Amino acid sequence: PRGGGPPATRPNGPGEGHAAGVWKSPKPCYHPPMSAPTAPPLRPAPARLHGPMALLGALGLILALGLGAWGYDQQRRAALMELSQRGESTLNLAVAVLRGQLERYRRLPGLIAQQPQLRRILADPRDPDTVQATNAFLQATNRLLQSSDIYVMGLDGTTLAASNFDAPHSFVGGNFAFRPYFQDALTRGEGRFFALGTTSLVRGYYFGAPVRDQDAIAGVVVFKVDLDAIEESWRGSDYEVIVTDPEGIVFMSSHPDWTYAATLPLTAERRARTEATRRYADTDLRALALARHDGPGGMPHWRIDGQDYMVLSQPMPEADWTVHVLTATAGATVQAATRVAVAALLAGLAVLAAVILLQRRARMTERLALQAEAQAELERRVTARTTELASVNRQLEAEVAERRAAETRLRATQDELIQAGKLAALGQMSAALSHEFNQPLGAARNYAENAQLLMDRGRIAEARGNIDRIFDLIERMGAIARHLRNFARKPNARLSDVPLAEAVAAVQELLGWRLAAERVTLQVDLGAAPPVLRAGPVRLQQVLVNILTNAMDAMDAAAQKDTATERRITLTARRDGANAVIRIADTGAGIAPALIPRIFDPFFSTKGPGKGLGLGLSISYNIVHDFGGTLTADNAPEGGAVFVLVVPLAEADHRDAA
Ligand code: ADP
Repeated sequence: PRGGGPPATRPNGPGEGHAAGVWKSPKPCYHPPMSAPTAPPLRPAPARLHGPMALLGALGLILALGLGAWGYDQQRRAALMELSQRGESTLNLAVAVLRGQLERYRRLPGLIAQQPQLRRILADPRDPDTVQATNAFLQATNRLLQSSDIYVMGLDGTTLAASNFDAPHSFVGGNFAFRPYFQDALTRGEGRFFALGTTSLVRGYYFGAPVRDQDAIAGVVVFKVDLDAIEESWRGSDYEVIVTDPEGIVFMSSHPDWTYAATLPLTAERRARTEATRRYADTDLRALALARHDGPGGMPHWRIDGQDYMVLSQPMPEADWTVHVLTATAGATVQAATRVAVAALLAGLAVLAAVILLQRRARMTERLALQAEAQAELERRVTARTTELASVNRQLEAEVAERRAAETRLRATQDELIQAGKLAALGQMSAALSHEFNQPLGAARNYAENAQLLMDRGRIAEARGNIDRIFDLIERMGAIARHLRNFARKPNARLSDVPLAEAVAAVQELLGWRLAAERVTLQVDLGAAPPVLRAGPVRLQQVLVNILTNAMDAMDAAAQKDTATERRITLTARRDGANAVIRIADTGAGIAPALIPRIFDPFFSTKGPGKGLGLGLSISYNIVHDFGGTLTADNAPEGGAVFVLVVPLAEADHRDAA
């Protein structure tokens, strides 16, 4: 007999369904439409002004070239001016030196002419003593005055005595009547001439003076002055200095090649005049290859041997010659070109710097404009986004308020449900208690009735045995009560080594009355050495009782339909590694396959009102798991349900088996 109870219900978790409905967001989560930030659009680069720029460049180039040419001209003029200034001073210096040299000797012939020794020889030119004395006198005087030569000529131009009387090219005996200085001395009282010595072939300046004897001219005394030292001093300077005679022939020159060359065309008259005085003795006269042209400022220029010279000239009438200073203009040209080039380079650099500066400034301006634009764009976006966010915020606030209200409603509903659940649980617990206690109570009742009968028949000892069993049952009911109290899984109960054979024997004894009453065969096969399990002895019995009771219920139900079916429960046990596998099969109708996953749920029962509580398998399942084992259900191929218990072996059993 099994106690009835309230129909099993399978409520869900408190308020689960409702809550799901509430908590599910009524509309999809709001994502503000944030567009990915994009770079501000680039402004199109300003179109290049190729045409006007090229024109401007060409104009600039022309202007630069014009400026360069003008600058070059100016620079050259300035350099030439500078050169001419320096040439001027060189010219002045040369003229001064020449003038000084001539002045030194100009008056000496007149002075020497008054010496009595000269009158003596002119009076008696054939007397050897006088000639010798005069020669000695002239030599001593020449040495003293540092002139080139001094000599005395008779009125016919024959040299009577000379300072170089003992030299290889002695003038003594020579006739120089053709020389202008001799003629001038006789006619004008003073003679001057520059020429190449016909005897000595040495250039010199000749000063002649008449020698008077009692108011009559008796002869001429001549001084020859050497000019080579002065010419020598002109060499090696930056300038060429030349001295030309009235015919334009070069008499002295710092440039040796030019000496005796004609700077003016050598006409027949010029040649004739020169021949008459034999100024250049027997030297062949030639023309200097010279081209004249006017330089800047009308300054005369000569081009000689490919070199251009600026020419400064100064006549010296007292010497009857002209002094020229020739300055090469190549230096000035180079200097002007260099200055213009340097100026052009500097100007180019300045233009480049200006261009770079302007470009940089333009780029900076452009960049600043872009930055300002980007900044403005950013601000616009920030404003837009702020507005969006504000609206999102408002929406969220509304949603939160809605959810708060829903939560409040849910709380109220939950409270109600908890109240109802408590009542339901109370009823179910009462039902469970009656279910678990009915069987031992039924057994105890049988034993008590038996004990009464035995006592009536005076079989006290047997009656006592029955009463002992009643005590055992009471003990077991106490244990079950403890388990029911701990239904909410308290796996802390101690485990011990439980021989399966003992547990099965106890269960057989417990269910013996029902097995017999319903004519159910229980076949037990625990193997040659029944296993010892690691379990709780009472809880293990409880599990076995539950499974066996279910089997009997199933077969009872099946028998009501088909009386021919044999009622048999087979309980076998085998070791499998560290576990024992206990298989309990019945000959009932089996479990509907769709229900197999649910039969271990608490309060799941198919037994109808008043019969099943749906707690037995649930409790059993939890107990087996507390042992560290598993409990599964299935249908056997030959029919009927099969429950398989896998329970860890006791350590001793495990070790023995190993
Ligand atoms: P109850 O016995 O109170 O119904 P259980 O938890 O013991 O609760 O069993 C749950 C359900 O499992 C049963 O109602 C039954 O439908 C099914 N069941 C259990 N054992 C068997 C079996 N041997 N054969 C067929 N169905 C079974």
